[in-house]
Amino acid sequence: MKSKTFRFFVCGLALASLPLAGCGKTSSSGSASVSGSNTGTSDSASASTSSGSSEEPAPTAGTTAYGAYEVSYNAKKDGVIVSKDTLLSRANLTGSETLSKTRFFDLLYYAYHDAMPNHQGQRLYTAAPAIPASFYGHVPTNAVLAYEWLNGRGLYTPEKDSSGADITSFNGSKAVTDAFMKTYFKRIHSYYGISQLDDFATSVDYDYYFEDTSRVAGTSNSLTYDTQIVSNANIAQWFQIHLLTMATGTHRDNIFNFYNSYNDDSVKVKGNLGGFYTKFKEIADASSVSSFLTLDESLFATQGFDPLFKTFEGDSVHDDVKTVLCCIDPYTSTYSSTDYAAGTEKYATDLATKEYIFENLGFENAEATALATGYADLTAKLIVDHETAIAAGKKDEKALLKKGVTYGSSLEMGKHFENAGYTFTNQSSFLTDGGYLPIEWKSNSLWGEAMLNNLSDTYLAGYKAYVIMSEVNAFGYAMPSEVVATLFGAASTSAYAANPDNYVPKFIMAVENDFMAEYVKTDEYTKNYQLILASLEKIKSALSARIKSSKWLSDDGKAKMQKKIDKMKGTAMVNSSDGTQWNLTNPTYSSTNTLSENAFLSSKILYGRWMSALGQRPVDEVFFSSFQKFTPNAFYDPAHNQMVIMAGYLASHGGFTDMKINQLGAELYWAIGHEVSHGFDSNGVNYDENGTYNEAWLSAADHEAFTAKTAGITASYDDYELMPGESRKAAITMPEDIADVSGMRLALDLTMADPSGDYKTFFTACAHAYRSTAARLFYVYALAPDVHSFGNARINPCFRLFDEFINAYGVTERDSMWLDPSYRGGVWSD
Ligand SMILES: [Zn+2]
Repeated sequence: MKSKTFRFFVCGLALASLPLAGCGKTSSSGSASVSGSNTGTSDSASASTSSGSSEEPAPTAGTTAYGAYEVSYNAKKDGVIVSKDTLLSRANLTGSETLSKTRFFDLLYYAYHDAMPNHQGQRLYTAAPAIPASFYGHVPTNAVLAYEWLNGRGLYTPEKDSSGADITSFNGSKAVTDAFMKTYFKRIHSYYGISQLDDFATSVDYDYYFEDTSRVAGTSNSLTYDTQIVSNANIAQWFQIHLLTMATGTHRDNIFNFYNSYNDDSVKVKGNLGGFYTKFKEIADASSVSSFLTLDESLFATQGFDPLFKTFEGDSVHDDVKTVLCCIDPYTSTYSSTDYAAGTEKYATDLATKEYIFENLGFENAEATALATGYADLTAKLIVDHETAIAAGKKDEKALLKKGVTYGSSLEMGKHFENAGYTFTNQSSFLTDGGYLPIEWKSNSLWGEAMLNNLSDTYLAGYKAYVIMSEVNAFGYAMPSEVVATLFGAASTSAYAANPDNYVPKFIMAVENDFMAEYVKTDEYTKNYQLILASLEKIKSALSARIKSSKWLSDDGKAKMQKKIDKMKGTAMVNSSDGTQWNLTNPTYSSTNTLSENAFLSSKILYGRWMSALGQRPVDEVFFSSFQKFTPNAFYDPAHNQMVIMAGYLASHGGFTDMKINQLGAELYWAIGHEVSHGFDSNGVNYDENGTYNEAWLSAADHEAFTAKTAGITASYDDYELMPGESRKAAITMPEDIADVSGMRLALDLTMADPSGDYKTFFTACAHAYRSTAARLFYVYALAPDVHSFGNARINPCFRLFDEFINAYGVTERDSMWLDPSYRGGVWSD
């Protein structure tokens, strides 16, 4: 059986401060500061488009006249008025020369260089890395100005060879293709952010991307990441409002008891930490491996997870839930043993950082140095062991751990778990299965093995430091701000404290059961709950209608798909689908507890829920009760033909019942449409109506026809550039892209069936709901591996697949939002 991991779709939200209902027509209120007379609002840019093609006939393709014609046309959209002939004259060209790269860049330069707005904010932090001119020694004299101008603004990227590698020469005499020109036009339009016809996503959120200083400050290597799709700040706000109106009683008191210890800043000072430091000190003072292990097991038992090998709650649902272990592994992908050896700069930097952290927890200088040195030496040893294992041909895998095997000097994982209070009573099958435990490594098993094998006196200081760092990671909200700011790479302690994403989720996770136990009784909950379930039924009907009228699917395929829709389960918030309320439990927090005592109680119940599901199939209630209810998410589980909308989704959106149809379509129908469509994406079509994996569920002919229908989606998303030089292959994001496009089809069907349905208002609301941005480095390392398309690459390639969008905005072949009609429509076009 193939592994059935699936990723969560995360749904959109709009900031309360955005007047969504009124921003359909001219949402780009800002305009770039340009020197041309046309200030370049979206609408004027749009108006100029329709007359563009009738102004003059296009010159012969491949000539400089043609290049000047295209540059003049595109510059106008950004508010820069310059004729083709003026451009040719400025660049000293006759118009008949071959359009080479050097000449094309010159034309861009002479059109834009005085008009382009300052290179700052979003324009800076999504910029391509500047390439030193010295490296590109081949830049010809007559291209230097243009090259420096593009390079200095992060718009220049090297060309790629057929293998995808950078071509490390300027290559200026190379003839320019239409695709090459379009790449630079799209970059420049995104840089200005005012042309709806070229970068719709950026233009409708111009204020957000280019005007709001709190968001745009940053450099390309900052940790800036901001999304309306998952906003803990919005959830926190919603939570707070409802908390204040909660009925007084046990649940409310319990929440406030936790809140008060959580918010007691006096304990977040070094050497105190509301009880945490006492635990750290005991760990640091352990004199042997066995006393260290006893202390670790005691922490494990108290807080529910093992700080030595942190028990991990995965974001995938296993058929049979296992305990997944992971350990702090920030090094193997970044450093090699030659980078990370005593005395090298990286080693020294890590040492200094850890010393700073340990000192700010309250350790004396000598103790902090001993722990930091231990951490660095152990890390260096683990890197060497990891490299050795790989050189010997070993592979990382999700290996199950064996019972009865002793690692290091005295570690046996079965005993280790039993000492912490886990008896594995539900897991008889595991225990007899070749002596394996229901414990597996998260995937970095080679690193994990090295962690197990080195546990001896030699590296004991390192293990102590790992455990303390693991605690600091888990309970960051209780640590001095110097520690957490350093840990998470925040620019400053105040920057860390200002971001609710850093600490609010922990509070909400701790008290969510108390909260929901009261909240489910409110009228608002009931109304939203009913609206969500009713919307799910509408989406299913819309999909049924599309399936029924599809010309590519056989009758047998239609019948199978309908059966799957009929059997699809839907669960919203924390209730079962029949509306019954589950029995939610929480620990009793005390107002006289220290922060660590309350935090451990919270942690223990969270991990306990997960552990109690060990070895069980995640039937609805077991799975759902173990899941965090305030995850701002909805998802479809193909193995159970089930979709779930979490309470956090409601919290991140506010009240659906108050939304007008276009906004409701954008924020609820599109999201539910996306999830339902996962049952019919390139992965979902391999599962039958009961959730059983079956590649033959659809006939070979239907399967083939389905794949053919996705070709346009591939064409629209493949290599779509979301920041200069950054794009991805559609193969990586395909199931999510299909779900977005199919969900958009269904949302459009339902929204436009309403008399108030309006394309521009709807598409704008969708773009608001799905907008996300990140500094380049954060995108490359944290977001690029995700299976969802990101930023403008999640919005623009989807919208242009629909005739409704193309027609509503009058997109033409010369615009970047254009997609050839043969590619349009997605799976359910007919
Ligand atoms: Zn999805």
